[in-house]
Amino acid sequence: MILQLKNTVSAEQANQLAVENQAFCIRMDGEILLITGSNVKEVPSSIEHHVDKFWVFANDIQLASKAFNSNKRRISLSNVTIGGDTKNTLLIGGPCSVESEDQIRSSAELLVGLGLTTLRGGCYKPRTSPYSFQGMGLDGLKLLAKMREEFGLNVITEARDATHIAEIIEYTDVIQVGAKAMYDQGILRACAKTSKPVLIKRGFGTTLQEFVQAAEFVLSGGNENVILCERGLRTFETGTRFTLDLCGVAWLQEYTNLPIILDPSHAMGYAYGVPVLARACVAMGIDGLLIEAHPTPKTAKSDASQQLDYQQFTELLNSLRPVAESVGYKIV
Ligand code: PEP
Ligand code: MN
Repeated sequence: MILQLKNTVSAEQANQLAVENQAFCIRMDGEILLITGSNVKEVPSSIEHHVDKFWVFANDIQLASKAFNSNKRRISLSNVTIGGDTKNTLLIGGPCSVESEDQIRSSAELLVGLGLTTLRGGCYKPRTSPYSFQGMGLDGLKLLAKMREEFGLNVITEARDATHIAEIIEYTDVIQVGAKAMYDQGILRACAKTSKPVLIKRGFGTTLQEFVQAAEFVLSGGNENVILCERGLRTFETGTRFTLDLCGVAWLQEYTNLPIILDPSHAMGYAYGVPVLARACVAMGIDGLLIEAHPTPKTAKSDASQQLDYQQFTELLNSLRPVAESVGYKIV
């Protein structure tokens, strides 16, 4: 249940009420909200007189639900906004991993040359094998920060675990929580304490309910800036790396107020399928698209088979613009 308190209740009093009712207390648009589990269906009689409005829910998708707030959340980065009524589809480009200064600078130059705003590169890579490239760590983060300085780009990078979350929060504009890390509550709770946007990727065996509940960890801790990212599920199929759940995207659009970004690169796993899939994604009217691109994909230290080269990335962007326009969106 979400309870909106009367404006006669002080912040101190609200915190006390939260403790007494095992609730989260957050401030949103000038109002103080208490959030309990969805098992609470009636306003506790002890606080009835402090409550202005309340919402009852069938399950723990509460702050993220359209039933609470039907307006899609607006997420503002330094020079671009998505969500709300912007109808912007943010094309996020960059390599799977930051590998060197030359490589990440070439990505930054590509994006700026194409009029794009947001660069992504992994520095702490959640690899399936300990013998694979694990990322450049803090040195990679500093390179991303340098690209932000030089090119005025927003940067996004992933937190693999809670040990380096503070560094990620310091250096990045959007914190990516990866498909394998979305259950890591150390990361989610740390993300709740900042106001930086958090992009949560859906685990490949995660139900929609579990996915949105991961977002609730961040929202209920006070960070309103959460974006969801669908990146493919593991199914019986082995011909493609994963199976992009577009039905799930339609469900999230219907029932949640969170902006949604799609990642056809990791879903497909092969560069040949990324452009067609990307166009299908954009045709759904989405808030963003995450596409991996590398100056020489064959030599990439991670996800070599799915990264586009720069010519393919440029052609993809050109082909996406009319698709976005056809559904009233704009690629930014
Ligand atoms: C990535 O975005 O580079 C990545 C590792 O993706 P995922 O968490 O979706 O596997
Ligand atoms: Mn990758």
